[in-house]
Amino acid sequence: AKALGRNTYSFFTEEMNAIMRRRFAIEEQMHTALARNEFTIHYQALFDVQTQNISGAEALLRWHNATLGQVTPDEFIPIAEHTGLIVPIGKYVIKQALVFLNEWQNIDQQKYSISVNLSPRQLRDATLIDLIKDALQDANISPESLQLEITEGVLMTGQAYIQEALTNISDLGIKLGMDDFGTGYSSLSYLRQYPFDVLKIDRSFIYGIALNKADCDLVKATIAMSHSLGLTVVAEGVETQEQLHLLNELGCNFAQGYYFAKPLPANQLLDFSASKKKK
Ligand code: C2E
Ligand code: CA
Ligand code: CA
Ligand code: CA
Repeated sequence: AKALGRNTYSFFTEEMNAIMRRRFAIEEQMHTALARNEFTIHYQALFDVQTQNISGAEALLRWHNATLGQVTPDEFIPIAEHTGLIVPIGKYVIKQALVFLNEWQNIDQQKYSISVNLSPRQLRDATLIDLIKDALQDANISPESLQLEITEGVLMTGQAYIQEALTNISDLGIKLGMDDFGTGYSSLSYLRQYPFDVLKIDRSFIYGIALNKADCDLVKATIAMSHSLGLTVVAEGVETQEQLHLLNELGCNFAQGYYFAKPLPANQLLDFSASKKKK
């Protein structure tokens, strides 16, 4: 038993060492990643549930590094947030996404929306609002076409600067989306307290809607509540025809997920969009 204990101990130590080393390497590499042009943005199309036409896309960050390989956002975003590097990286995403939207709208001769994820640290940045204004102007995009998404966790701290930043964003005419709805705490009061326009139901709830009644009822109630508050509803992680069919019956406005399209590099999304239009 003693030997086993020691092995277990050293196993955990090695495991922890590996995790710490990787974290350290990510942090180190991230400092110069922007300058080396290692970040790209993928775009996942968003669909109108009723018409099944593309209504816009969400910008999702991708990072490929020579020593680390592909690093997922779930791994590097929290570190970027912690170090503050999310501020310059986030700026890059906002600028690029708006330039892309302009190109996309010009090619398709149609209006689309673009969603960009915001981290709490970015809301604390005093230059955020001016940066967004400039980026909108430079790309010739109207504020209503931009949607900024934040998760409930951001609101939990209840800090004054959050209310202020969100109000400023909303006053510009930019859309505010609550991301991953249902995964945090006491979300309902936030919907009244902050100027949200859109609610995105987390994919963990969408997963079960065609499988069990409880999940279906929960999503049904969420949609009804959102609509009564004047919010538009997006379902995340739609993977099957059955889910889409149910969401249509429940009156969900928009849907996003592998059933329609995975996040794609910019040029591939343009091709995908063009192929949908020709139908
Ligand atoms: P999110 O904002 O909830 O983005 C949706 C995630 O779900 C994406 O993961 C997307 O690839 C994935 N997804 C989409 N459809 C499906 C589906 O049908 N099934 C399944 N299983 N998954 C689906 P991704 O790209 O790995 O991004 C993870 C998270 O990283 C995002 O979650 C977002 O919170 C964060 N993130 C990504 N880009 C940025 C960014 O530019 N800034 C910030 N602050 N966060 C970002
Ligand atoms: Ca999102
Ligand atoms: Ca989400
Ligand atoms: Ca998520």
